[in-house]
Amino acid sequence: MVTWQRFVLYIGMILVFGSSPLSAQWHVLEDSHFRIEYRPPAEQLAKTVQKTLHRVRLPIVSSIDYRPTAQTRVIICSTEDDFTTVTGGFAPEWGVGVAFPAQNLIVLKSPRITHALERLPTVVAHEYVHIVFGQAVAGKSVPRWFHEGLAMYHAKELGLTETLSLSWVSVTHKLLPLDDISQSFPAETNAARMAYMQSRSTISFIIEQYGEDHLRELVRHIRTTQQFEHAILLTFHYNLDTFEQNWRTYVRGRWNWWTLAANTSFLWLTATMLFLIAYWRKRRQTRQIIKQWESEEDWLGLSDEEYRDIWS
Ligand SMILES: [Zn+2]
Repeated sequence: MVTWQRFVLYIGMILVFGSSPLSAQWHVLEDSHFRIEYRPPAEQLAKTVQKTLHRVRLPIVSSIDYRPTAQTRVIICSTEDDFTTVTGGFAPEWGVGVAFPAQNLIVLKSPRITHALERLPTVVAHEYVHIVFGQAVAGKSVPRWFHEGLAMYHAKELGLTETLSLSWVSVTHKLLPLDDISQSFPAETNAARMAYMQSRSTISFIIEQYGEDHLRELVRHIRTTQQFEHAILLTFHYNLDTFEQNWRTYVRGRWNWWTLAANTSFLWLTATMLFLIAYWRKRRQTRQIIKQWESEEDWLGLSDEEYRDIWS
């Protein structure tokens, strides 16, 4: 989301909600760390979100070495209309969650509208990293690619699809310059997805080349220095340009034709397996239905011949 949109959204949210609770139609589930607001019947979902937040909270706050000082507010939207209203309509259409570190607020779309219940823990962890890291580096200029990469790293977002996309971009030499994704991400869905993948790969680069300690050290330097570039220099002893060159070399070596070929074969194998499982389940279902019909026929006390007579 571009900066001015964030600003308008921020103002819009203050105008619409301020820091007061939503209307009486919204229910609240709260504890010492989180205040979750939802509309019935999303109570079970709210409990799941609360549980997930508690599971991811400690690893995230200890890794970033910052604890939010107040309850983090989480609003779960069960309809697109609610999501549009709560976010002021400025969240990207593909967005399933938005975080506002300055307001200590996360807005989530319910799986009822995203149809992706399995992604919920990832989205929750991702947005919570934005809250914790965003508050830890408040007032400092941190590139968007680092912020998103860190959120994806903690949310463990790097699956098969992402590996394939990244390999393809790498072999076709279409990696975006980091400077292009420093302020904002593209609005178009596919381009945005690639920006996220690249961001994630910058963190993989740090972890795989230098170790997790260096990531913690970089985060610590970002918090204690004014310039992101200076934090890079303090951590790696080279400048941001060299960081980018080294990252590009790493991506080309890590995601290449081999990873593309290997993962594509794996994808086809998985697709074939899924097809066979679906076919077997369908066949079993059909057999069960036929069996059921047969027992119903028995119950009706009709012979096969009589049965055929009635329905033919
Ligand atoms: Zn994000």
